[in-house]
Amino acid sequence: MTEFKRDGSHLSSYPPVEKWDDWVELDAGAWPRRVEKHYQLVPTICFNCESACGLLAYVDKETGQVAKFEGNPMHPASRGRLCAKGPATITQIHDPDRILYPMKRSGPRGGGKWTRTSWDEVLETFGACIRKAIQENRGEEVMYHVGRPGHDFIMERTLQAWGIDGHNSHTNVCSSSARLGYLLWHYADRPSPDHANARFILLLSAHLESGHYFNPHAQRIIEGKMAGAKLAVMDPRLSNTASMADYWMPSYPGTEAAVLLAMAMVILGENRFDATFVKNWTNWEELEVDGFCAKGQSFESLIDALKRHYAKFTPEFAEKESGVKAEVIVKTAREIATAGSRFASHLWRGSASGNLGGWQPARALMLLHVLTGSVGTPGGHNLNAWNKFVPRPFKNPPPQKRWNELLYPQEWPLCVHEMSPLLPHFLKEGRGRIEAYFTRVFNPVWTYPDGFSWIEMLRDEQKVGLHAALTPTWSETAWFADYVLPMGFSSERHDLMSQESYAGKWIGFRQPVLRVLQEREGKKFDYTYQANPGEVWEEDEFWINLSWAIDPNGSMGIRQWFESPYRSGQKLTVDEYYGWIFENSVPGLPEAAAKEGLKPLEYMRKYGAYEVTTDVYKLNEKPVAPADLAGSKVEANGLVTKEGKAVGVMVGGEAVVGYNTPSRKLELFSKTMADWKWPEFALPEYYRSHIHRSAQAASLGKSGEDFDPDFDKRYMPLVEWPKDAKGEVYTLLPIFRLPHLIHTRSGNSKFLYEIAHKNPLWVNPVDAKRLGDIRTGDLLKVHTEIGFFVLHAWVTEGLAPGVVACSHHMGRWRLNKEDQIERMSSAWVDLKEVGKGQWKMRQLSGVEPYETSDPDTKRVWWSDAGVHQNLTFPVHPDPITGMHCWHQMVRVERAGPDDRYGDVFVDTNLSFAVYQRWKALTRPAPGPGGLRRPLWIPRVVRPEEAAFYLPKKKA
Ligand code: SF4
Repeated sequence: MTEFKRDGSHLSSYPPVEKWDDWVELDAGAWPRRVEKHYQLVPTICFNCESACGLLAYVDKETGQVAKFEGNPMHPASRGRLCAKGPATITQIHDPDRILYPMKRSGPRGGGKWTRTSWDEVLETFGACIRKAIQENRGEEVMYHVGRPGHDFIMERTLQAWGIDGHNSHTNVCSSSARLGYLLWHYADRPSPDHANARFILLLSAHLESGHYFNPHAQRIIEGKMAGAKLAVMDPRLSNTASMADYWMPSYPGTEAAVLLAMAMVILGENRFDATFVKNWTNWEELEVDGFCAKGQSFESLIDALKRHYAKFTPEFAEKESGVKAEVIVKTAREIATAGSRFASHLWRGSASGNLGGWQPARALMLLHVLTGSVGTPGGHNLNAWNKFVPRPFKNPPPQKRWNELLYPQEWPLCVHEMSPLLPHFLKEGRGRIEAYFTRVFNPVWTYPDGFSWIEMLRDEQKVGLHAALTPTWSETAWFADYVLPMGFSSERHDLMSQESYAGKWIGFRQPVLRVLQEREGKKFDYTYQANPGEVWEEDEFWINLSWAIDPNGSMGIRQWFESPYRSGQKLTVDEYYGWIFENSVPGLPEAAAKEGLKPLEYMRKYGAYEVTTDVYKLNEKPVAPADLAGSKVEANGLVTKEGKAVGVMVGGEAVVGYNTPSRKLELFSKTMADWKWPEFALPEYYRSHIHRSAQAASLGKSGEDFDPDFDKRYMPLVEWPKDAKGEVYTLLPIFRLPHLIHTRSGNSKFLYEIAHKNPLWVNPVDAKRLGDIRTGDLLKVHTEIGFFVLHAWVTEGLAPGVVACSHHMGRWRLNKEDQIERMSSAWVDLKEVGKGQWKMRQLSGVEPYETSDPDTKRVWWSDAGVHQNLTFPVHPDPITGMHCWHQMVRVERAGPDDRYGDVFVDTNLSFAVYQRWKALTRPAPGPGGLRRPLWIPRVVRPEEAAFYLPKKKA
């Protein structure tokens, strides 16, 4: 902790822990008088992105209210630092328009009429509905659909206690493709780069300013840079991240794997790879490609085969595909080779989330790590599973016996997560219905593609019986719910968090600040909503109580999982749930707490976080545990097996644990891909995205100079334009993040929306000319496959030519002028269904000042709420990963006299047709042995093994 003195004043970077009970600051508002303010500081965890940085809530001792949030210096990942969204939490909790009480709709669904109800009524209604579904063997009609995860452990427990396969998530609009690319190599589906110790860092997209684990990673990338690391950024946008780079590579979207494989070829061709690592730690002996079979061959012959296989990936080829200069590709590849085991990288959304085949860049990027031996090393690429701490609660329910085809349908056997963007289409096809639907911090009508198909699904009571939106803020989706249930922000609920932020493992504790403080003072609460504003509750207590409501007398076997581990037959409390975990499941925590005379729960309530270990490198080299070794045998291929299951692998004469892949090595050759009908992708490959220039030509009925028979015959044309679509064809990048916004939740933060509130279309000057001398502020009409939207142009050189871009954060809308959805972030719109499936939206007014208990809402000075582009995007499920491929092929023209800013038109009949075209690209299950999906690939809330097999067809 840095402390220094200046002019006799005592300044400190952070309040020292020993002063947290009475922290004194001068009241800035009282200046020039010196008025002291006394605060109690309570740690909690930020909820405004997945990074889980540590917050300190400053509770004013006079008012008993939270006055501000700062960083928690005791949090090992964020180390006291925050991005703009952390401190902005204060505006969210004090938002005068927030939902304070459970609400029940009082008119037709989507009519916007609500009445206040009680938590007891909510529990009774949903308890009876779910009980009936379970008792009637309709468990798959109960679905929990999460947008922003958190409280994962208790949710998994809840769904398995109910015996249902009902977990749905947002991951297929977020990160599934990147996940498959990584997990095929080493089972872990995310990277954990050790940026701080790297010598060379390669980021695909704007990871420094807005990526996954943004603040914890950003500070370590800068540390790495300050220690001499060079930074390369591959991104068609000159983002703030690219502006910090030594090498900016504005690659054409979807061509990143071509560049990465060309780099690999430079390293292979110049023999600058780590041969020992590749030989010891890849499954090279399983490789079969181009008629070459490595089994029984020398390692050198394998390297020759790889060089032959990748020969086409010259720097010149990569330049032609991507636009990145060949000499930059060569230079960067050499820098990576020089960095060797200290080469770090990150890829998460961007190229992975935008493109057909977006999993290949992750697979190709990992090839660079494997060639340089930078896996599990200081300054290298680590596995998320090595840096994320997952504690286990007491007495877990058994895995469910069911398999829900609405979540994991047979067409996508390799999808990493649930096929959630397709849910409206699945229901339209008659694949099932939903009796009880919980959406949790989830706003698919706005954040997902094809939002009007979601509206059609949500308003149809035959398809969705009872819908509760669990949310801290109003949303476009909550509008179509039956119940809107207010859940807490970061300082209003419990949760455990751990992320792969750096080379270490930590655990953080989110806690309801006002409850914790009042309990310190001796007050007692049965439930957190009694201490929170209004009756804002927390999910943990909600699920515990709902489970009791489903099974009040324990006869269904559900209630037992929500009984206290300390008081037989009594209802579990959150203190008992987390207390047990901290006492029994976090190594070293009880001892650290005891040193301070605290119980583990008290320690976590005091500090908010605990670092479990920093011993995280090269965990693949750990010897097989003696218990596993006893009775094991070594197979011909070097696998160490026990009772038919692999427990390790022989490397250098030692039995070590290796990776969790079938070969226990890094899988250069994926037998899984070959076995599951995609043999052409068993090695890392490059293939063109749906928005490639050749696909653009195909959409216009031309073959174009870039025609590639291998690709284009298989995939083209995927795009069919509506008959009135006109204008030049472009690729639209619709998913870049702004560092200070967070999808739906930032909508109720006046601080964050004041910083930015519009999302114009980025257009390069070359394209502005091509479009007829477009200038910044001109109105453009952007046609997609299913409709159009109208917005302003922003002419900028910060984007590669041939591409246009629009941030996904803006364009919130509301159907009521005065209420629901914060008025500072949304436009008031008129929404009409002008024909079956034909939706037209027009803005009636932008943002205007308005009267509330907060005087700032009268001071709102901006009027633009942005334009909702996602509505006009059809679903594009990648045929392998299931990831929604966000990038859009669009046609851009000047807006006409009848077009107005913010106009949106969509035909959901066309979106259903696009869904059918993409579905036709899949290669469905069964796989080997009648499996629905490979047993070794992870699955959220995993059912028992028998459920992985398709039922045998009757003869
Ligand atoms: S990066 Fe920002 S929004 Fe995300 S958890 Fe940290 S402070 Fe919160």
